[in-house]
Amino acid sequence: MYTFSDIADILQVVPEQAPHNPLIEQLLTDSRKLVVPESTLFFTIHSVGRSANPFVETLYEQGVRAFVVDESYNGFSRCTDASFIVVRDVVDALQKLAKRHRVRFSLPVIGITGSNGKTVVKEWLYHLLNHTYQIVKSPKSYNSQIGVPLSIWQINNQHTLGIFEAGISQTQEMERLNAMIRPSIGVITSIGEAHASGFKNVEEKIEEKLSLFEGATALIYGSNDPVLKRKVGEYARKQPGMKILSWGSSEDNTVCVLETITHGATTSIHCRYKKALLHFNIPFADVASVSNALTCITVLLYLNVPESMIREHLHHLPVVEMRLEMKEGIQHCSVINDSYISDLTSLSIALDFLEQQHQHPRRTVFLSDIYQLRKDKDTTYRYVSALLNKKKIDRLIAIGEDLMQRRDWFAKIPETHFFPDTESFLLAYPQFTFQHETILLKGARVFGFERIMSLLETKTHDAVFEINLSALRNNLRFYQNHLRNTKLMVMVKAFSYGTGSFEIANILQHAKVDYLAVAYPDEGVELRQAGVRLPIMVMNTEEAGFANMVKYNLEPEIYSFRIATAWIRYLEARNITGFPVHLKLDTGMHRLGFEWNDITNVCMLLRESPQIKVQSVFSHLVGSENPSLDTFTKHQAELFNKMCDEIAVVAGNAFLRHLGNSAAITRHPDLRYDMVRLGIGLYGMDSVPEVAARLQEVGTLKTTISQIRVVKAGDTVGYNRAGRMTKDSTIATIRIGYADGYPRMLGNGNGQVWINGKKAPVVGNVCMDMTMVDVSGIDAREGDTVILFGPQYSVQEVASRAGTIPYEILTGISQRIKRVYYHD
Ligand SMILES: *Cc1c(COP(=O)(O)O)cnc(C)c1O
Repeated sequence: MYTFSDIADILQVVPEQAPHNPLIEQLLTDSRKLVVPESTLFFTIHSVGRSANPFVETLYEQGVRAFVVDESYNGFSRCTDASFIVVRDVVDALQKLAKRHRVRFSLPVIGITGSNGKTVVKEWLYHLLNHTYQIVKSPKSYNSQIGVPLSIWQINNQHTLGIFEAGISQTQEMERLNAMIRPSIGVITSIGEAHASGFKNVEEKIEEKLSLFEGATALIYGSNDPVLKRKVGEYARKQPGMKILSWGSSEDNTVCVLETITHGATTSIHCRYKKALLHFNIPFADVASVSNALTCITVLLYLNVPESMIREHLHHLPVVEMRLEMKEGIQHCSVINDSYISDLTSLSIALDFLEQQHQHPRRTVFLSDIYQLRKDKDTTYRYVSALLNKKKIDRLIAIGEDLMQRRDWFAKIPETHFFPDTESFLLAYPQFTFQHETILLKGARVFGFERIMSLLETKTHDAVFEINLSALRNNLRFYQNHLRNTKLMVMVKAFSYGTGSFEIANILQHAKVDYLAVAYPDEGVELRQAGVRLPIMVMNTEEAGFANMVKYNLEPEIYSFRIATAWIRYLEARNITGFPVHLKLDTGMHRLGFEWNDITNVCMLLRESPQIKVQSVFSHLVGSENPSLDTFTKHQAELFNKMCDEIAVVAGNAFLRHLGNSAAITRHPDLRYDMVRLGIGLYGMDSVPEVAARLQEVGTLKTTISQIRVVKAGDTVGYNRAGRMTKDSTIATIRIGYADGYPRMLGNGNGQVWINGKKAPVVGNVCMDMTMVDVSGIDAREGDTVILFGPQYSVQEVASRAGTIPYEILTGISQRIKRVYYHD
């Protein structure tokens, strides 16, 4: 336990002000994650271009009384009842605290790093060792400069083993993580490519990762990667006291892998360790899972876990899905299914996501007993009840004996139901109604909440369009970091480029973008009805939509005298003045907008029309992504400046100027003006490869195989006998067609789909609801997943094969295909 003044001592500073000396239990870096104000210490960690100082007062109002701030903070007099520590570098202070906390405990710690598989290996080691040890581990994938200290802070006296992840993207970072984690056992998973921009090459990346293990007594890795093997060898020579344990196919490995055989969905692993032959089975068939399992096996053998016990637990290795998924449910519900391992951090993340959903008036939570306890049961469930109260849920359906025994603690929730197990709830299910609400399912694996899920979700067409909300956040963050003080309008027209409406807008609102833009008033109305409060610009306004524009506070784009006059007359008749509008200028696109010749009349109109207020003036670039059009882009910008200056004289108020779309944000930083309009980049596409490498593709279009047959040479497949077989071939029929938005242009070998890691060409013509593909030589079965595009197989490539652009493919995906939203 630390008091505020203990923490000041550790940081070696005298508090700026300290009216009280509260006990500090929680460290907070994200103001939205506040749960227990009295014992929280908030760190003002700024993101690029965004100060965290304003959150101090927000939290102060919510009862937080302890803060660590830097010298840019000056609001002490507004928070006289709070204690403050002022430091030069807030992140550094957080890390210092973690370091001091860590050295108080002598428990063994496993430190895991690597490019892929860190979280899976961490969760699997937890699964394999939690019968033997009291384990503290990083929640989710908290492995950054901020995530690691927050993970370390959880260590307490009861723990007998720590398992922490360390992730880095630049040189020099690992040293700081090492000083906090102080691993006694180091584990390095896979290395991957040096794509992360912070490294010169793979060698440098490996060297940096190895520096996590400074001071460890053992290092464990897989030696099949020759570069990794060589670098570990060099490193080991400099660390005479460190034991190096490896697994791999050659004889010189600690665990020599003799054979791995997959049958169906399982793999048998045969290996030799200290002259003994060992055999294990794991319930996975993919290469990455086998590697991760071998890494775990090597760790367990090093820890002297008996072979029989390893075998027993490997047999039940869980899927580490780490997915928070939102689907359409029965009776107009949205159902969020959280398959993260059930612990307090993931509960808090899931409740945050629930809180961001404004589309339905009610919120219901299904919660099971929690097995991964950080403290004793009572402390845990008190925290859970505080968390649920804070998130203002309407109904709690709690399942499990521990929750049931503490039902009184949840009395503040308007409606609660308690069941000892999932079966009892299923029996009672017919007495419940679920309607127009957002439902969160958060259960530990043993409770089998998938049985509840299957009652609540609507059955779907087999094709789904999966939207990765974490990737979307990543892309947004990339642009926000780039922009610093420029405002950001996000284009969510056409169902957010096919990805969704309120589902995307809720995320954008939570991430504090400045503006949204839609194409038509109806799209804006839908967002308002789903609780989106951000200002919304509507690009195509016609008289039929005026009433809704006013009713829902939607701001029109004014692009012609006809629309301007009609709108002004409409407002005048209702005695409305100062309604915000956005003037569209035509600087070369020749689509919508006022031209240079119109400017005198525009100015006159503005002078005479108190009904409207110029909120912004904007134009659109015709070829911001195209280097050969840079001169034209410059010309457009000059014309834009000239026209804006004329309007500024008469506008009577300051207005925002904006010109750039996604490509302009990165290619023409000098054309950002006051705001930019982000579109395609948010969904992961950019024409500049260096930018594209920093973005993640957001959408994956998937379907399944309905039938597989062999078609003989000379026979044909599909309409008009277009798909003629030159040799005997295995043909799979998949559930997607042009009515779903899969372009007919992709027929007859133009297109390919991705099945079990291989590409299968489209055979014959694409049909309305089905398509045939050649799976000869691919291990494919009926029911297997087929990826039409996604991170594995870019929509950009699919578009170019179909002779179009990604925009058309994305927006063309039929509404009959269900969208599924998830966080990974
Ligand atoms: C669609 C649109 C954008 C966004 O363009 P991207 O190329 O997707 O970034 C920007 N401005 C206007 C006026 C648009 O219609």
